[in-house]
Amino acid sequence: MDIAAIDSVKVLRENLLKWVCFCFGILASIFTYFNLFVNDFYPLGVLEGIFAVYCFYTFHYARTRKIHTWQPLVLCLCITLLVTLGTYLAAMKNGLFVWSFTLPVLYYLLLGCKHGFYLSLLLACVQTSVFISKPSLAPFSDLNLSLNMSFSYVGIWVIAHIFEASRAQFAQRLENLALYDPLTKTGNRLAMNHYFEVELENKTNLFTMLLDLDYFKKVNDQFGHDVGDQVLVKVASILKEVVNKGRVFRVGGEEFALFIPNSSQQESYQLAEKIRVTLQDCVINVGDREIRLTASIGLAAYRNNDTLKQQLKATDKQLYQAKKGGRNNVSAEQIHYSTNLEQVS
Ligand code: GH3
Ligand code: MG
Ligand code: MG
Repeated sequence: MDIAAIDSVKVLRENLLKWVCFCFGILASIFTYFNLFVNDFYPLGVLEGIFAVYCFYTFHYARTRKIHTWQPLVLCLCITLLVTLGTYLAAMKNGLFVWSFTLPVLYYLLLGCKHGFYLSLLLACVQTSVFISKPSLAPFSDLNLSLNMSFSYVGIWVIAHIFEASRAQFAQRLENLALYDPLTKTGNRLAMNHYFEVELENKTNLFTMLLDLDYFKKVNDQFGHDVGDQVLVKVASILKEVVNKGRVFRVGGEEFALFIPNSSQQESYQLAEKIRVTLQDCVINVGDREIRLTASIGLAAYRNNDTLKQQLKATDKQLYQAKKGGRNNVSAEQIHYSTNLEQVS
């Protein structure tokens, strides 16, 4: 499954920025021509010309490269400046202020709720002060007209805000559904792939562990599947607590993959041991039942250029050794540590 499909808002925003720049580039070019050669209104014409160049540059940039996070923000600030300055400089009949009503939608679509809100507020404040301070805009002091303009602006702002807030909420829910195991709330295999391929930029000194609970079938057989589920939840929360520097993923029924970046052989081995001992010493209370269990852990260092599949295969080999070595132990390449403790009986 393609992770980009879940994180689609980024792609959508990049696409939107590209085509908004293209459209604004053309519009700004037309306005530049009229203001320079027909209206003889040079200040605005020059500003629009600069804006058109910037739009075409960003359009070209977005077509050929990955855009930076500041680029949509700069575009929004430029268009805000152009509209507010244009409202201030141009005559009322020029009608440039009308563009103000489209901008909240653009802010929210390109930048999301937080920036959308602040930029819409900024635009409202600046345009209000322009209307109040400029005598040639006196017709707007008519109560009915100013009320209608204010309400339509606020209406568009509110609609854009509600839409974007709901979209973000649903996107988050979709992401949770796609990336998290609903029982233990740890990441699933898809999340693990994304973490390994995208989030983990530096893989030198990365160590991976595969942890499999010992004789877990017996827990289900003795106490029932529901109790087994609650034990899995508890184990996952212990793992997340102990592994504060790395990440935990559930990759099988009672099997977890742990990623420990920026670590050393010794450090990661000590962490694996800590996990093993914590689980061994932990008494899990489910209702009036006390459950003890142990885990076997395979540990492997990441070799440069290995794929995730290769890395997990190497780690699984160690897990197999840990099981073969009597369970409740940690097996790492060249290190083998074992204890003989009572298993779930
Ligand atoms: P080993 O020490 O060899 O790992 O023994 P085991 O019993 O843990 O291993 P095995 O693979 O034979 O059994 C795993 C069991 O985990 C089988 C299944 O009953 C249980 N299991 C898998 N997924 C879940 C789950 O989501 N909830 C519960 N309660 N049990 C699960
Ligand atoms: Mg298993
Ligand atoms: Mg098991």
